[in-house]
Order: sequence, then structure tokens, then C-alpha cells
Amino acid sequence: MAQAPVILWFRDDLRVGDQPALLAAAATGAPVLPVFVADDAAAGDWAPGGAARWWLHHSLATLDAQLRLLGVGLRVYRGDSVAVLTRLAAATGAGAIHTTQGVEPWVRALHDRVAAVDGLTLHTHAPDLLYPPGRVLTGQGTPYKVFTPFWRALQTLDPPGSVPATPTRLAGVATPPADDGLSALGLCPTAPDWAAKMAPHWTPGEAGAEAALDRFLDQRIAAYETGRDHPGVSATSALSPHLAHGEISPRTVWARTRARCPDEVARPFLRELAWRDFAHHLLHFMPDLPDLPMKPEFKAFPWVDDDRALAAWQRGRTGYPIVDAGMRQLWQTGWMHNRVRMIVGSFLVKHLRLHWRLGERWFWDTLVDADLANNAMGWQWIAGCGPDAAPYFRIFNPVTQGEKFDAKGAYVRHYVPELAALPDRVLHQPWTATAAQRAQAGVRLGDTYPHPIVDHKAARQAALAGYEHVKAAQ
Ligand code: FAD
Repeated sequence: MAQAPVILWFRDDLRVGDQPALLAAAATGAPVLPVFVADDAAAGDWAPGGAARWWLHHSLATLDAQLRLLGVGLRVYRGDSVAVLTRLAAATGAGAIHTTQGVEPWVRALHDRVAAVDGLTLHTHAPDLLYPPGRVLTGQGTPYKVFTPFWRALQTLDPPGSVPATPTRLAGVATPPADDGLSALGLCPTAPDWAAKMAPHWTPGEAGAEAALDRFLDQRIAAYETGRDHPGVSATSALSPHLAHGEISPRTVWARTRARCPDEVARPFLRELAWRDFAHHLLHFMPDLPDLPMKPEFKAFPWVDDDRALAAWQRGRTGYPIVDAGMRQLWQTGWMHNRVRMIVGSFLVKHLRLHWRLGERWFWDTLVDADLANNAMGWQWIAGCGPDAAPYFRIFNPVTQGEKFDAKGAYVRHYVPELAALPDRVLHQPWTATAAQRAQAGVRLGDTYPHPIVDHKAARQAALAGYEHVKAAQ
């Protein structure tokens, strides 16, 4: 009798190389039915945002092409995952599903629902992390809440391991059931097609991820440690959207970096990669991370309700050039440099005293690398209420941050071209330029570029006054 097929259920692990679920499905020797289910209802509030949906569309298309090279195509569906998987199992006679473990609360709940279906066995395989949650623990066996000891402990473990070979062929199901087709998922914007401006910056898919890693290791990593805080220089890997969609495994990134770079060059980069594990382990152990402050006393902070300020921040019209450059980079490319994520985040939470969840939500909708764990941890960190957070009273000054990290103004000039002709000295605070400097640069404050929407000193005082409520609640 022919062997019953197995379902290979993809979600955010969209690759064929170093894919534990794919390897396990292949190892059964049974025909494999690779599927993807767009299930916004299961993801709830955290269904992919607009930019990530655009990425997902292209990533699924390239995954299908990769799988076809192995002999099987990807079937894509929209709807309730449990219903779709049950239907596919009934239609093909499949009894087993192989998938990748996730740390997101909704993914874990969904896996529980699938595992409870009679006649189906769900096999969840190693998550897309260097180490699974629970592997890096304190001496007391508890999860770390501070990064540095987490990183120290991680480095004492055996390395994440060598990358297994990808199968060259997968046996497919003789007559795979019809699918809904990629376009039915409605992932790409049409009218207006705002994604057209992002497309030139990216190559979604496994080959794009491999190319980004190679480019980084060939051209950038040597200057990573000194350059990674300077947004005007392309010094970082830009691997985040590829990692967020699982187009390359962190183990591959780790192994290739180790193989190609001396320790002192590799380590600063691998340390950042370990932040990703830290965030995911945190989310695994603290499923409320995206919604509730890790430090509960922050619930007492008197957040402000100000739609106009929020809109100015979202549109890059705050009057602070480094903040506006960051928000426009995000809007134009779907990505923002890490240093600038911290600056714009601090500005939202401390200068405008808008709730960090508003920033988390905007990033979720606009980032191609939107990742529940990294985003939630990043926002809680910047708001002062999260793990290992900067103390709340340390408030970034957007002018000095700009002057320090974009000293020559390349970044601001690129994304805020209306200020491009100002001299370096006043670029990060155009309101201090003389009338002659402004006239010569064609800058008219309040017309071609906004006045600052808040005064730094006054905003700082108001933030510190708000923090008194947090201290009182401690
Ligand atoms: P590199 O410097 O080349 O680092 C390599 C990889 O390490 C990254 O691709 C990423 O996967 C990981 N990494 C690096 N820094 C961090 C970090 N601080 N936290 C967690 N992982 C890290 N990153 C996301 O992937 N998705 C998000 O939704 C996200 N939201 C953020 C929100 C805020 C407020 C902040 C401050 C940071 C956020 N980050 C997020 C983390 C970080 O900004 C990005 O991972 C990084 O800028 C991606 O660029 P890169 O790939 O060139 O990074």
C-alpha cells in the first residue's frame, strides 16, 4: 500500500535550506504536501501588517519556486488553519503535519488546536532561533531578564551546530488538492500601490537572504562594530526581514559568520543576533510582552492622547530632522536603522508622551521585518518598562543624537531633502540657522519644513514629571 502523505506546514520559516520541519518531513520517505495558510483570524491583532504582507507575497512566490526545484509546489490557502489542514488531511489521507515551533502566543494556541484534531499528529520542530527557549537559563533555572548575562551564558553552550544538507528531491503527492492561489491571499497593495517605492530596496526570498548575508560578510562586517550606530553608512546586515520571514536560519548566519571571520570581527555581530534569541525567549516566557509593561508600575504613567502629534511623528513632520529622517526611511523602505529606531521611539514615548504601544503598532504595520518579539522588546526597552531597559529618566536629545551619529548629515539629507542645503552645523537644529543660512538653503520653517512640534527642554521636564507617577506606583 502507498505510504500516506505528510503535510509540511509553513508559516514564518519560508525556506528550504536548514529547515528542520522540511528535513523531518523528507525523512519520513512519504510524499510531502507543502502548504501555507493565511489565517488572519488566528493571528488576531498580530496578523501581518501592510509592509510585511507585501514581503510575504514575494517570499511565498520564491518559496514555491524553490520547492518546485525539489519536485513539489507550495499550496497556499486562506482561512481557518485547522479547517484547511483537516480538509487537506481528509483529501490526501495525510495523518501527520510537520511544522516549526513558534514563540508567539497565537501560534502556540493555534498549534494546540491543530494538535487536538482527531486523527492528526502535529510534529513541531526546532524554532528559528540559535537555541530553543529554555536552553539559556540562569543558575536557578529561570529565564534571563537582562541581556548581558544571557549573552555570556549563551556563549558557554555548544555552538548552534552545523547546517545540514538540503534534500535535492522531495516526493510529492500524486494529485495535490487545488489551492486558493497566491493572488487570492490579497497580500499586495493595489490602489495605491504604495509598495512600489519599497521594492527596489529588497529581494525577498531565500536567494535574497543568502545574497544579503554574503554581501555583509564580504563588504561590511569588518566595519560593523564601528559603523553599526551610524545610519548614514550601510554598515549592518539588513538581514532582519529575511530572518523575520525565516528565509535564512539564524544557525546558517552564525555558522557562516564563524567560518569566514576571525573571532573579534564576528563577535559584535553575533551578539546582536543573540538579541533576537533573547527577545524570543522573553516572549516565550512572558506572553504578555507585546501588550503589558514588564514593569507593572509603568501602568501609572500619564500617557497623553494627541492624534496630531502622533500623525506628525508617523509622517516624519516633527521638526526634528533625525526623527523625521527615520520615520520617512521607514515609510519609504519598510525598514529603519536600529539607532534611529531608538531615537524615534524615545521621541514618541518621552517627548510626546504617547503610549509605547502606539509606536509598536505603527512599526508593526510599516516594517518589512515586523517581528512580534523583537518589536515588543524594542518598544518596552525604549519606554523604560521592559527588560534591561535604559532608565526612563535618560532621555535622548534628538539634536545631539543626530549630531553624534549623523555628523556629516548624509542620512538626514537623504530622507529630508528640503534641508539638504543647510550647513552641517545647523542641519540637526534648523531653527538655530541664521535667516541668511535658511534663505540660502531655501528653508522656510513652518512652510517647507515644520517648526519643532515640542520644545526639547519643556518636553523633557514634562516626561520627568510623568515619571514621578511611575516612581510613586513602585
Ligand atoms: P544587524 O545589526 O545586522 O543585526 C543582525 C540581526 O540581529 C538582525 O537582522 C536582527 O534579527 C537581530 N538584531 C539586531 N539588533 C537587534 C535587537 N536590538 N533586538 C532584536 N534583534 C536584533 N527587529 C526586528 O527584526 N523586527 C522588529 O519588529 C523590530 N522592532 C524594533 C523596534 C524598536 C523600537 C527597536 C529599538 C528595535 C527593533 N528591532 C526590530 C531591532 C533592530 O532595530 C533590528 O533588528 C535591526 O535594526 C535590523 O537591522 P539589521 O538586520 O541590519 O541588523
